[in-house]
Amino acid sequence: MHEISNGKTDCNSIFDLTIIGAGPAGMTACVYAARKKLKTALISELIGGQMTWTWDIENYMGYQFITGPELSAKFEQQITQFPITRAFEKVSRIERIDKHFRCITDTGNIYDSRAVIIATGKQSRELGVPGEKEFRGKGVSYCAICDAPLYRGVPVAVIGCGNSGIEAAESAAKYSSEVHVVCPVPWHADPILTEKVKQLPSVKEHTGFMVEQINGDQYVENIVIKNNSQDKEVNLDVKGIFIEIGLTPNTGFCKGFVELNNWGEIIINNRNETSIPGVFAAGDATDVPEKQIIIAAGEGAKATLSAYRYLLNSNDI
Ligand SMILES: Cc1cc2nc3c(=O)[nH]c(=O)nc-3n(C[C@H](O)[C@H](O)[C@H](O)COP(=O)(O)OP(=O)(O)OC[C@H]3O[C@@H](n4cnc5c(N)ncnc54)[C@H](O)[C@@H]3O)c2cc1C
Repeated sequence: MHEISNGKTDCNSIFDLTIIGAGPAGMTACVYAARKKLKTALISELIGGQMTWTWDIENYMGYQFITGPELSAKFEQQITQFPITRAFEKVSRIERIDKHFRCITDTGNIYDSRAVIIATGKQSRELGVPGEKEFRGKGVSYCAICDAPLYRGVPVAVIGCGNSGIEAAESAAKYSSEVHVVCPVPWHADPILTEKVKQLPSVKEHTGFMVEQINGDQYVENIVIKNNSQDKEVNLDVKGIFIEIGLTPNTGFCKGFVELNNWGEIIINNRNETSIPGVFAAGDATDVPEKQIIIAAGEGAKATLSAYRYLLNSNDI
C-alpha cells in the first residue's frame, strides 16, 4: 500500500473505486475491493471511526472481548497487505464528470474513479450552547473513552444518559472525583449498565436538567444547568464536560448529490445502491436501521460486491 501526499491525480490515475471513510464499513469494503483486484483509493480523515471511541467490544464475532482501538488496529493490519492507495484527507465535495466521479478533498486534491462507496459514518452531535465551541479541546470533549484520563482527581460532567452517556460516566468515574450526569430525561441506557453506574459513589444525577452555558477563562471552570419545569438553575464547578447526546451522519458533503432521508442518512437499497448509479454507500452513514460494527462491516462487503458488478456491467473493468 502506498500513501498519497499532495499533488493532484490526473486522468492516467483514474481509479476503479474510491472508498470514502475508513471505519469498519470502509475498511471491509477495501479488503473486498483489493481481492477483486480493483484499483482502489481509500480516502479517510481518520482510521477506525467510532471503534476508536469505545473500550469494551463484546459483540464482534471471533472475539469474546476486544477493545475498540485493538479491533481498529486489526482491521487496519488487514488492509495494509493490499496495494491500495490510501490518503488521510477529508472529502468536501463529490461530483459527476462525464462517465466518472470526482472526489475533491478539503486540501484541493482530486480523486477520479468509475465508482464510489461512501462509508463516512457518524460524528457526535453538538449541544449548541454558549461556550461549547470556545472550550472545545479546553475542557469540552466528545469522547470520554479517549479523554477521561485527562481529568484525574477533578470533577467533570457528562451530558446525556443513553448508552453512550452512561458508558462515558462509567469511564469518567475511574478517574474523576465527581461525575455529574446531566440529562433532561430519565436514564435510558441498557439496564445492566444503568444499575452498575448508579451504584458508583462519585456519580451524581441531575435528571430533568439541560445545559445553559459553559464558562471558564482559558479552560472550562463551570457549567450552568437549568431545570425548566422547576425554574431552577444550578452551577456545577467542573473541569471537563463530556457531551454524549447522540450522533449525526457525516453526509453534508454529499447533500444534493445523493438522496438523503430526514435525518441526513443516505438512502440505499438492499444492494447498497444510492440514488446515483455507480455511487454506493455502507454503514452508519446510511438509512440501514441498526448501527453496529458487524453490520457496518457486512454492509461494506456488500457495497463492494455491488460496485464490482456495476463496473463489470458497464464494461469498465
Ligand atoms: C461510544 C460508542 C460505543 C460503541 N460500541 C459498540 C459496540 O460495542 N459494538 C458494536 O458493534 N458497535 C458499537 N458502536 C457502533 C459502531 O462503532 C458503529 O456502528 C460503526 O463504527 C460504524 O461504522 P462505519 O464504518 O459506518 O462508520 P464510522 O465508524 O463512523 O467511520 C467513518 C469513517 O469515515 C471518516 N470520515 C467521515 N467523514 C469523512 C469525509 N468527509 N471524508 C473522509 N473521511 C471521512 C471518519 O474519519 C471515519 O474514519 C459504538 C459506537 C459508539 C459511539
